Amino acid sequence: MFHSDMINSRITGPTPLPPSSLEYIHQQMMSHRSESFKKTFANVQCGLQELLETNSLPLLFTSSGTAAMESAVNNLLAPNDRALTLSCGFYGDLFHQMVERKLNKNAVLLRSPDGCGIDIQYLVDILKQHTFKAIFLTHSESSTGVVNPLSEIISAIKSYSDAYIVVDSISSMGCVNLPFDSLGMDILIGVTQKGLMSPPGMSIILASERAIEESKVMSNYGSVAFNYAKAQSLAGDFQTLTTPSLHAFWGLENALGLMRQQGFENVFYHHNNIANHSRLLAELNGFKLFAKEGYRSNTITAIELNNKFRATELAQQLLNNFSITVGIGNGNLTESIIRIAHMGYVNQNEITDVYTALAKCKSLYV
Ligand SMILES: *Cc1c(COP(=O)(O)O)cnc(C)c1O
Repeated sequence: MFHSDMINSRITGPTPLPPSSLEYIHQQMMSHRSESFKKTFANVQCGLQELLETNSLPLLFTSSGTAAMESAVNNLLAPNDRALTLSCGFYGDLFHQMVERKLNKNAVLLRSPDGCGIDIQYLVDILKQHTFKAIFLTHSESSTGVVNPLSEIISAIKSYSDAYIVVDSISSMGCVNLPFDSLGMDILIGVTQKGLMSPPGMSIILASERAIEESKVMSNYGSVAFNYAKAQSLAGDFQTLTTPSLHAFWGLENALGLMRQQGFENVFYHHNNIANHSRLLAELNGFKLFAKEGYRSNTITAIELNNKFRATELAQQLLNNFSITVGIGNGNLTESIIRIAHMGYVNQNEITDVYTALAKCKSLYV
């Protein structure tokens, strides 16, 4: 699959498109109120419902993941509410920033150290003492390669609180099992350009009925472009609220078709295998995995560099000499970790190639 004239793109998105998607998205623009578009919408809707094991209608917005996260904050919270954000990295901190902008001091942050997951015992202690209207968290923290145990966290929350539960699954949706209805959260956020191997431009929101009802009450503070209730009623007629990113729709239509053909269970199994392969090769090559054992994401491997390496330099070498792109760290981790994404359209050889290249780079430093 990997040819030397192609980039082995291991950044956390936009991820590569399958060749059949490249072909399929090559279409002339059309009216998003046309019968032809409605057919695409219906296929996407039904594919997402199957993938995410839900009866709710996915709300499809023209946006990045960041904007979709902000929409959840705006649809649920008014300035005098109290909310809690569970963060273990850059993207959790981003959620907290959004909440804080709206609630000021009523925005509470529970921050785990980088590389660790959310501390459930600590969470329970906080929930025993305080009440919150909503709780925000990241499923797969792309900045550190940490994955949080969703069902444990949700059941811990539900034992002590009836807060709305909002989950950023932007870097896990499409690669791991996220059965929305049985997990029992209120808002789940995804995008097309990561695990769903489609062009950027569309965010995917699943919202519980009580979250939709709350968003109606919040209409004075809420969002026009991200009006969940309106988007839901239009979705019933296979339409979007605003002009959709047609390429994202077509790409996702094709990608979901491929995934369904392979079987969603097999897709999850594939990503589990690739992640195990990546972690094994990392350790065999003497790299330390940055995420703590038991909290390692199936879509991103973060490896800790010893002080002989600088991540920016190493990433540049991988690109120049091996046509491989990887992520460096975020914030104060910039130079100390590199992140290898294995979400969406990826095979085992592409991951092997990364570690072969890393081993060669490493030999230059001894
Ligand atoms: C990429 C990412 C985002 C931001 O998505 P954009 O589409 O770049 O705005 C948010 N959260 C997580 C976990 C991500 O991986």
